[in-house]
Amino acid sequence: MEIRLRADNCTICGVCEEACPYDAITMAAEGPEFNEECTVCGGCVEACPTEAIYITGRETSPQPQPKDTAGDVWVFAEQRDGELLDVVFELLGEGRRLASDLGMSLGCLLLGDDVDHLAQELIEFGADRVYVGNAPELKHYRDDLYAQVLEHAVRQHRPAILLIGGTSNGRSLAPRVAAGLETGLTADCTGFALDEDGNLLQTRPAFGGNLMATIRCPHHRPQMATVRPKVFPKPDRQAGRKGQVIALELPTFEPWQRILEVIEDADTGPNLAEADIVVAGGRGLGSPENFRLVEELASLLGAAVGASRSVVDAGWVSYAHQVGQTGRTVAPRIYIACGISGAIQHIVGMQSSDIIVAINSDPDAPIFSIATYGIVGKVEEVLPALIREIRGSSS
Ligand SMILES: Cc1cc2nc3c(=O)[nH]c(=O)nc-3n(C[C@H](O)[C@H](O)[C@H](O)COP(=O)(O)OP(=O)(O)OC[C@H]3O[C@@H](n4cnc5c(N)ncnc54)[C@H](O)[C@@H]3O)c2cc1C
Repeated sequence: MEIRLRADNCTICGVCEEACPYDAITMAAEGPEFNEECTVCGGCVEACPTEAIYITGRETSPQPQPKDTAGDVWVFAEQRDGELLDVVFELLGEGRRLASDLGMSLGCLLLGDDVDHLAQELIEFGADRVYVGNAPELKHYRDDLYAQVLEHAVRQHRPAILLIGGTSNGRSLAPRVAAGLETGLTADCTGFALDEDGNLLQTRPAFGGNLMATIRCPHHRPQMATVRPKVFPKPDRQAGRKGQVIALELPTFEPWQRILEVIEDADTGPNLAEADIVVAGGRGLGSPENFRLVEELASLLGAAVGASRSVVDAGWVSYAHQVGQTGRTVAPRIYIACGISGAIQHIVGMQSSDIIVAINSDPDAPIFSIATYGIVGKVEEVLPALIREIRGSSS
């Protein structure tokens, strides 16, 4: 693809230079000049009021055009050990809304070994059709086979939109499938809308969470997006709702991975993304030893342990505990932030919590601006006092 200028249309107004996010345009006497920073993102094409700028090569794309879809919204129904993940239901709620607005059906793709019994649950949470692919090879998630089956199913049934949960598996699966289908993918969406042509408007944080970007994929199908758990609410279950269950035709598997062993997660605490209470620690704790206070309070409250990226980077806890833009999104009833400053990249991962309790020695720490309750004090004094109080009241 190349960016080109219709010199006759150009009024040298300079709008394109201002619109370019990459500083790739300089205005010369004859019109805009594009330097090597240009990514052919199309920002200038959209901004140009006289249609003087255009992109070559797009029209020759071999990809299915929007009209070439069967017109379904699809949700990938991730299951682990025969249980559907909550994010699937959250996506079904949002998928249902989009499908209704577009006058489409809502489909679900369910893969595993002997998982037909999960189809009715998906239907009761909003799916009209559930495509089920059963095979012993699909019992555990694996990138190679799941990506092959998903790609094959999409080519066969041509959905217009494909939503995938932003779990660790979903984050690995979605880009493989998108690359295979040569379509676009927007990761970690926080909101969806539709434009006047029925294209999906996919909103997500950009530039370190400092602004929200809305992304469209008008030239390729399906329009693919991942959404992290807890971004959308879980819809109500409609017991007895009717839908279709369709056996998926599976492709010939071409494995390039071999599973040597399946090791159970040793962490027996509540799942961070689904916990009702999260106690999270940040650099204000001062040392990995003090982080144990966070773990102790979490254990007393039956809570999951969260962390800021600073302490994950410092090696005090594993990445699985990181909350924020590049970690997990959580939305518990109570989030207790201990020694966390409240950087925007952390806040985007926990701001939907019902009650936020912040403990910080700096009364001006940004976390207090979103906290329901604030305790100004040193964590190494406040946490032991809280732990003593809770132990005392429970004995
Ligand atoms: C692209 C990108 C992605 C990122 N993704 C994430 C992410 O997913 N999650 C995330 O958390 N961060 C993320 N960050 C990092 C983020 O910008 C912050 O640097 C980080 O969140 C800060 O962690 P912190 O609050 O623990 O540490 P600090 O910012 O150092 O804050 C420590 C806080 O502890 C307080 N404090 C100090 N001593 C005490 C004490 N004795 N008692 C009580 N309070 C005390 C201080 O007043 C301060 O407010 C990202 C950054 C970038 C650029």
